[in-house]
Amino acid sequence: MNVDRSLTGKNAFITGSTSGIGLAVAEQLAVAGCNIGLNGFATSEQVQEISYRFQSDYEVEVAYFGFDLREVDEINEGLTNFGKEFGQVNILVNNAGVQFVSRIEDFPTEKWNEIIAVNLSAVFHCSKVVIPGMIANQWGRIINIASVHGLVGSVDKSAYIAAKHGVVGLTKVIALENAKSGITCNAICPGYVETEIIRNQIRDRSASENKSTDQVVYEMLHDKHPTEQFIESSEIGALAAYLCGDQASGITGATLSIDGGWSAH
Ligand code: NAD
Repeated sequence: MNVDRSLTGKNAFITGSTSGIGLAVAEQLAVAGCNIGLNGFATSEQVQEISYRFQSDYEVEVAYFGFDLREVDEINEGLTNFGKEFGQVNILVNNAGVQFVSRIEDFPTEKWNEIIAVNLSAVFHCSKVVIPGMIANQWGRIINIASVHGLVGSVDKSAYIAAKHGVVGLTKVIALENAKSGITCNAICPGYVETEIIRNQIRDRSASENKSTDQVVYEMLHDKHPTEQFIESSEIGALAAYLCGDQASGITGATLSIDGGWSAH
């Protein structure tokens, strides 16, 4: 089988890449030859397992920078450490995200602050650190994992939806400010992907509505995805890898839905 290794030698940093979508994006970029900076909460065994697998299967360099995206100083220090180990970040994937579900009247302020910090402000802070080096190289890729909730609303998700709409706007600004520097910035907007974030919601809804998890999944997909299928995290990884290639150099400032038709409603 012919494997596309066209990103060999590029350095990619993926926030929240210890699980779910971020891990799938990191894997597809490793397949394409990128050295990988991992980030996210995980045990040392989990980090070792991912690092060993990527190194042995894809022959790339892998290192873990477990900083907390709620803390600006940690972001600056972590990305500086990445630079010392690998050199310039060529590809930044702002993926990490958290969720909390409640009506606004009951929404805890600390949850609002955390969601805005991780899902929106960290996208700004990470991009701010890496853009000067990308301009110096006249090449760079910034991919923001937003959400269909960057495009449409739903009840009970005020902070998440405000943050994701913010990410879509920030994506456009980064794209415009750097359009002549060989840098693209795009937002990927997934629908439901069966990861921890969604498994928690399914579990909570099953308990609060006294329904089986199968029934909750059926209702979620039936209500929102015309395809009635989850999106696979590998599909998002493949789209991210495509956006990093030279064929995608004209795609910038875009919001790319991968949502089983949700946003077509
Ligand atoms: P996930 O829970 O599997 O992954 C979240 C990642 O973010 C984990 O690695 C976690 O450790 C990391 N993280 C959380 N808080 C952090 C912090 N303070 N500092 C550093 N890392 C932190 O969930 P996922 O579904 O893979 O989510 C990835 C992204 O995709 C998120 O931005 C999410 O909003 C978005 N998204 C997910 C879905 C879905 O249905 N799963 C749909 C649309 C968008």
